[in-house]
Amino acid sequence: MSAPAAPLPDLRRLCVHTITTKPWAVETAAARFAAAGVGGITVWRDALAGRDIPATGRLLRDQGLAVVSLCRGGFFPGKTVEERARAIDDNRRAVAEAHALGAPLVVLVCGAVPGLPLEESRRQILDGIAAVLPDCEAAGVRLAIEPLHPMYADSRSAVNTLAQANDMVEALRSPHVGVAVDVYHLWWDPALETEIARCGRLGALAAFHVCDWRTPTVDLLNDRGLMGEGCIPLRRIRGWVEAAGFRGFNEVEIFSHRLWAGDQDEFLGSIVRAYREHV
Ligand code: ZN
Repeated sequence: MSAPAAPLPDLRRLCVHTITTKPWAVETAAARFAAAGVGGITVWRDALAGRDIPATGRLLRDQGLAVVSLCRGGFFPGKTVEERARAIDDNRRAVAEAHALGAPLVVLVCGAVPGLPLEESRRQILDGIAAVLPDCEAAGVRLAIEPLHPMYADSRSAVNTLAQANDMVEALRSPHVGVAVDVYHLWWDPALETEIARCGRLGALAAFHVCDWRTPTVDLLNDRGLMGEGCIPLRRIRGWVEAAGFRGFNEVEIFSHRLWAGDQDEFLGSIVRAYREHV
């Protein structure tokens, strides 16, 4: 486990993804998160465009923020050898960027290609991760396989349950491969509690992402809810994750046209309140 051994004070265990407050540049996000008492930041690669990455990492740490992870790598499957090689190169770049930023973890949206059998995609994902592992070992960076809700199985990820992610961790047998548990993707799974426990036994619980599921969801990608706005039993799932030994950050990852359209300072205040009330 890369997580700290002892629990941090609770607000210090709150991490916010840069994409959650997408209208803010990473520098603005860092200053506002730190002022709100948030303990960690997960950086999306688009937020680093045009920046000196090591200097950005120093800026985040100077604000007192832990750099929790870099989002995201993955998208390994392809219909041609060339596409798959390009994906591996991009993941190598992601690992190098994480190292430069000082992020210990790269989260993987593993990928899928319409028309490619899911079993074949999963095989290519395993091959792709294995090809990147030497870079991870050299850089001291870990990968986190993030299972995605099955509604994304066509084009975003052929890894759709925590059981499949745990199977991959077992197959790869590397301390540099873990799993990101995201409640949005996994809350519905009747095997969730047992697979979280299994993930903990594997030493693979690398990240915990929170938000909520709105009814109705009007956009498959960009209508995530703030914690408490939906039907996900957040406290219950957090309890399972912590019972499995996880002591890392609770990461708020929300993609929402609705919430991006509002005042981001007010939104950050709502995130802190919702975190205290619902996570
Ligand atoms: Zn996530």
